[in-house]
Amino acid sequence: MEQAADRSILKVSSLHKQFPVYGSFGKLGGAKAYVNAVTDVSLQLNEGETYGLVGESGSGKSTTGRTILGLTPASQGQVLYRDRELAAMTREEMRNFRKDVQLVFQDPFSSLNPRKRIGRMLEEPLIIHKMGDKAERQETVFRILQTVGLQPEHAFRFPHEFSGGQRQRLGLARALIMNPKIIVCDEPVSALDVSIQSQILNMLKRLQREMKLTLLFITHDISVVRYISDRIGIMYLGKIMEEALTDDLFHEPLHPYTKALFSAVPDFNRSRLKERIMLRGEIPSPISPPSGCVFHTRCPYATDVCRTDIPAVREVRPGHKVACHLVD
Ligand code: SF4
Repeated sequence: MEQAADRSILKVSSLHKQFPVYGSFGKLGGAKAYVNAVTDVSLQLNEGETYGLVGESGSGKSTTGRTILGLTPASQGQVLYRDRELAAMTREEMRNFRKDVQLVFQDPFSSLNPRKRIGRMLEEPLIIHKMGDKAERQETVFRILQTVGLQPEHAFRFPHEFSGGQRQRLGLARALIMNPKIIVCDEPVSALDVSIQSQILNMLKRLQREMKLTLLFITHDISVVRYISDRIGIMYLGKIMEEALTDDLFHEPLHPYTKALFSAVPDFNRSRLKERIMLRGEIPSPISPPSGCVFHTRCPYATDVCRTDIPAVREVRPGHKVACHLVD
């Protein structure tokens, strides 16, 4: 894929997100500690690409997505959408941002009102944004249902009448109805059977092409991210450890943590992995992350410098960035 620094639609620079932990007196007693959910994350989404953000549970990938969407404010750092900083947007700009950047998450059912018909639910954002009259809105709802492989008559049904795969199609329909530019997909197929997963992933790829969408695809599933992504960022304990074009990353993973993740995938072509790394122990607490390289407590190659010095994210080959003292 072409490297395109100037095709950037969204840029994240040195993003930090901390959550306070309160004691028995709640907020009155002040924070007794902080969860470091995201630490110094920088990434860029290029127009029309799929950027896969991968990591174990607790790696900070979902918090990164939610902070990018403005659903939770950043503690430090910048999110720029089309060169406008999120934190400095006017009400009007923020309204447009909310229209342009949509979210699809793992369990769309939890966000569907069980007492409302699907057509009404899909129509609501169009009403809020004053888009079209009643007849035009209904036509849009019917069209978007067909776009995601459902039928216009599904508009008159309630959420409980749909299967898991159909509900995820509804989640997508709700995102697409605003004609967005970016969709943040947070584990959108994790709860689905493998055959349904591939239907949804193929549909996402088709819609991305047809609607020129940019996707931020958040997942813990290496096979899924490999299939859907143009570029991939690997997260561990709130930080990006490695970032590369998908083919480059799978051809030659450089960071020990990436190698460990790939080593755990049964169907990954092991001949490409020069060494296999088995992850030991649990991911450390984000309340008191390890000093130096946050991966040093689980890394078989850790040396003294890893325990004291934070490795910078360096571009070691065109488009291939790594945060490790040992990678030249
Ligand atoms: Fe391992 Fe050190 Fe590299 Fe961290 S910096 S991944 S501990 S070798």
